[in-house]
Amino acid sequence: MAKTILITGGAGFIGSNFLHHILSRYPDYRIHVLDALTYAGSVDSLPPQFLDSDDPNFTFWYGDVCNAELVNTLVAECDLVFHFAAETHVTRSIFDNAKFFHTDVIGTHTVASAVLKAGSRIERFVHISTSEVYGTASREAMDEDHPLNPMSPYASAKCGADRLVYSYWQTYGLPVVIVRPFNTFGPCQHLEKVIPRFITSMFLGEELTVHGSGKAARDFVFVEDVCQALDLIMKAPDKQVHGQIFNVASGQSRAIIDVAQDIVRLMDSGSGQIVHMRDRPGQVLRHTGDTSKIERVLGWEPRVDWEAGLRRTIDWYSANPEWWRQRVWMRKIPLTFTDGHTEYH
Ligand code: NAD
Repeated sequence: MAKTILITGGAGFIGSNFLHHILSRYPDYRIHVLDALTYAGSVDSLPPQFLDSDDPNFTFWYGDVCNAELVNTLVAECDLVFHFAAETHVTRSIFDNAKFFHTDVIGTHTVASAVLKAGSRIERFVHISTSEVYGTASREAMDEDHPLNPMSPYASAKCGADRLVYSYWQTYGLPVVIVRPFNTFGPCQHLEKVIPRFITSMFLGEELTVHGSGKAARDFVFVEDVCQALDLIMKAPDKQVHGQIFNVASGQSRAIIDVAQDIVRLMDSGSGQIVHMRDRPGQVLRHTGDTSKIERVLGWEPRVDWEAGLRRTIDWYSANPEWWRQRVWMRKIPLTFTDGHTEYH
């Protein structure tokens, strides 16, 4: 049966990819997108339906996820809620973080409270959390029971939101699902994030700047695989997913220096220079996701391997210079260290 879905943050990276995923697979679904179009959101990432104000199945709402009146109204019209909207950049959260707590925590409170208010109308509330809530891995692969030790203001804001949603399940029985994607990459990702930044640095003939030794490792998962996991979560029986937390990851970690070297190799210009700068404060040293739960419960597994995903991402940025060129100025953020030294990260 056709559903009505609210997607918050649908003009951002994962939200817009998920929006395209839903539109292409469920053309009869009705979609509301709510997005404040911060520096990270872009109407250029939205589908053509955005320009058709008469499309009965697609409505874009320019607005703040902390606006309770607006969120209550939209949620009350929906069967399913996917909450992506957030401030998302770790380095920016070190530079200036009040907004992170406002959007990520209060925004999530606003959405969760709207779901509570809407009562049984809402079939499922999918909260997009993050693997950053775990902090540095205390064991090789982190499952959903790994301790939560957020190491940056971004991670701590997301951790607050994650636990808030969990408490609404425990206290009010809200039909919540908490999803913790690991480092997601693919088309339409802002240039402040490491992979698009390295790719566009190659196009611009710039050095690739790596934090510290570059040994800090992350688990990179292609955005299409994340969308597929969310799709399975959307359709799963209540008993399998309500009140549950699911990691979404590739199961392999990769040092940032290796990521830089792979990009230089695949872009094959022979000109890629990698330089090192000071390490980012609060750096997570190692992250590998254990996905056995989502594999067991929902049959999900990553389909796009690292090199295939990276090639597709490079091809997308190569084909869409008008999308990324306007964002070049937003890539770097000044960080002042405890000894007073300032560096652009
Ligand atoms: P993004 O920064 O690309 O997009 C965020 C979107 O939220 C933007 O469109 C922005 O305009 C919107 N937004 C910000 N503040 C808002 C507000 N107050 N009201 C309404 N909209 C607002 O982020 P992303 O990378 O697509 O991440 C989406 C979600 O997934 C986030 O919750 C993030 O924490 C989570 N996540 C991301 C990754 C990743 O690697 N990108 C990994 C794990 C989890």
